Amino acid sequence: MKEIVVLSGKGGVGKSSLTAAVGYLLAEKYSIVLADTDVDAPNLHLVLGAELESTHPVSASDKAFIDYDICSRCMQCVDVCRFSSIIGEDEPIIISYSCEGCGACSLVCPLEAISIEPVENGKLNILHSGLIRVVSGELAVGASSSGRLVDVVKRRAGEVAELNGSDLLLTDGPPGIGCPVIASLKGVDYVVLVTEPTPSALSDLKRVYEVIRFFKVAAGVVLNRADMHEGSRQAVFTFLQENDLDLLVEIPYDPLLPEALARGALAVTMYPEAPSSVALRQLSTSLSDLVAGESEIR
Ligand code: SF4
Ligand code: SF4
Repeated sequence: MKEIVVLSGKGGVGKSSLTAAVGYLLAEKYSIVLADTDVDAPNLHLVLGAELESTHPVSASDKAFIDYDICSRCMQCVDVCRFSSIIGEDEPIIISYSCEGCGACSLVCPLEAISIEPVENGKLNILHSGLIRVVSGELAVGASSSGRLVDVVKRRAGEVAELNGSDLLLTDGPPGIGCPVIASLKGVDYVVLVTEPTPSALSDLKRVYEVIRFFKVAAGVVLNRADMHEGSRQAVFTFLQENDLDLLVEIPYDPLLPEALARGALAVTMYPEAPSSVALRQLSTSLSDLVAGESEIR
């Protein structure tokens, strides 16, 4: 089974709608599972109109808890917390939302009054859209450890894909360049980087590419809304050339695409002849060759 992740370095450049469209098109030929690891704002299932099969609580973070019946109020734990998550002058109080569960306070406590326990910080949803299975992570509001939740989603999606005998696990990756993105890269064969011709999108592309290059994962670039600005389009080409990065496809700005999304449908199904649909079909053909091993992954 091949594993491809779609990243952009930030939100708003069309990553999820591209993942949904390409997933739909690849499912015409392959058995695929989609994973949504944008756990702060999962919306792949909405773009696909997927139906919920089951939901499962996830404990992907640990927090400190004080047993006040044992605590002597010595306040040693306050000083040791690097995250300033224990406050109080006469009695230690743990600020749960900022506690990273590192365990330092529990180590320093002379009375073993502090325990580190797993807490529920998100959900894992299993959905389907036609024959496509979707595994989606959803971080609880105000919860931390999104990187660990991404890892949980990826592992579960991998299990579902294996169980189904799938050819491809296609992942809608998280935005940014931090821990969740790094977690999303684990074990992947190829990264599709989505950008658009604006200076800010190019800056985001450069930053996320640094991460990908560090982990030595093969990647190619999709230029979305490619005809928005010629100067910025050329700037993207220059970056690709300097880094020997493949341009997978240019998707023109196409008002039919957001119109279909607003109607809760994919443009590739609603308007198959639209310029954006033609480009997305071209992208899915390139990725199909990668899945089949008929083109080189570099
Ligand atoms: S577990 Fe770590 S972060 Fe949480 S309160 Fe204790 S020392 Fe602070
Ligand atoms: S170190 Fe232990 S005993 Fe001392 S204040 Fe903290 S929890 Fe209480």
